[in-house]
Amino acid sequence: MTNKKSSNYPSLVYANSSGEIFDYPGLDMAGRRGRSFFQPDVEDLIPLPEGSELFIIPESSPIAWDPFQEDFVVFDTELPDGQALAVAAFMAPAYTQTALAAYRRESQEPLPLFAYTAVGWWKGRFWVPAFRSDRDKRQDIKGFRQEEVIRKTRATLKKFRKNRLIQHLGKCSLTYGCPAAKNFFLGRYEAPLPSSPVCNARCLGCLSYQPEGGPPSTQERITFTPSAKELSETALLHLKRVKNGVVSFGQGCEGEPLMQAELLEATVALIRKEHRDGTVNLNTNASRPKAIEALARKGLDSIRISMNSVDPRFYDAYYRPKGYRYQDVLESWQVAKAEGLHVSLNLFVMPGLTDLPSHFDRLCGLIDRYGLDLIQLRNHNIDPDWYMDSIGFDNNQEPLGIRTMVKELKKRFPLLKFGYFNPPVKKDKR
Ligand code: SF4
Repeated sequence: MTNKKSSNYPSLVYANSSGEIFDYPGLDMAGRRGRSFFQPDVEDLIPLPEGSELFIIPESSPIAWDPFQEDFVVFDTELPDGQALAVAAFMAPAYTQTALAAYRRESQEPLPLFAYTAVGWWKGRFWVPAFRSDRDKRQDIKGFRQEEVIRKTRATLKKFRKNRLIQHLGKCSLTYGCPAAKNFFLGRYEAPLPSSPVCNARCLGCLSYQPEGGPPSTQERITFTPSAKELSETALLHLKRVKNGVVSFGQGCEGEPLMQAELLEATVALIRKEHRDGTVNLNTNASRPKAIEALARKGLDSIRISMNSVDPRFYDAYYRPKGYRYQDVLESWQVAKAEGLHVSLNLFVMPGLTDLPSHFDRLCGLIDRYGLDLIQLRNHNIDPDWYMDSIGFDNNQEPLGIRTMVKELKKRFPLLKFGYFNPPVKKDKR
């Protein structure tokens, strides 16, 4: 990578087939939103966050901005070992992308389920179009000392030999390196309570279950249903030792927790019988309003509703719901607010889709109608081409830009918060 004084904008980066990455000072980084290329504003650029990864896009050609031709160009240079390949960043948690990586790809085979953010080289380092969307440090890589993670995980596994859920989380911590599982064993922040091997949706980008021909799933789905005793024992161990602790049903390594509604009700009742403090949260596709009402009355504190889009066409095309409708999700949102729960919207961020004016208007309409406490701005972990083709995305609107969308939402809803993680909920809020 060149360290000479570079221009006033990041230059293109590309890779060879052995994974070596190079910069090309004559061409500038380009970004993508929806199906079109653009150059992210310099104000939108930050150094690549610590804990991020760089991915080489197979069978691809990078797209760059040529400042001399003043146009986007395909960088299809032949290298000694084949064509130049595109590079994308998979950012560390708590960072939200504002532009996708720009490349052309012939292959129809979907890329693995990660977010592919634009990346360039400038002033001796990598830069990305993104912003930190949550100040909370719970998943910052420098906060994890592996030696301590191993020691505390092993000690807890020894102490809770009979608890299958804790044993499952042990594998998540030591084998998969799941930050939520590590935080459970370190006794801090938020702990995961996966409970359901089954789901009533068939999301295109499901991280834990992918049919033949789909992209590889990145998480192994839990294969058993823990008991209320195992779930509550895990939750109580965490909530009793963590100030402002959070425990959450609904993890990437499971199906839909509301498919185990009665089990969750029994678990929340056991937790609340023994412990009033701490936050019991539910990450969910919110498909069952009645179950959410019952859980709220048992002592649930908050829910996080996941949506790829507030546009029912794109929602249905992505979630492919089985036995529920987009309308049920909205009814759950309404019930949750009526029951006084803290409600977050986990809005999968896809630049050029999430920030469309029509999408913005619809989102504002829903917030006006139901109220909302927090929007979690998580990057959509999916191959953008495969995703947009699969949901039939075609667009003739000029996107607002993700940062502008957030700014406009803040202006319109001053009490609405933005973040990335499930916050502890203050009891007087319940
Ligand atoms: S709701 Fe969750 S578990 Fe179910 S298909 Fe979608 S991502 Fe997978």
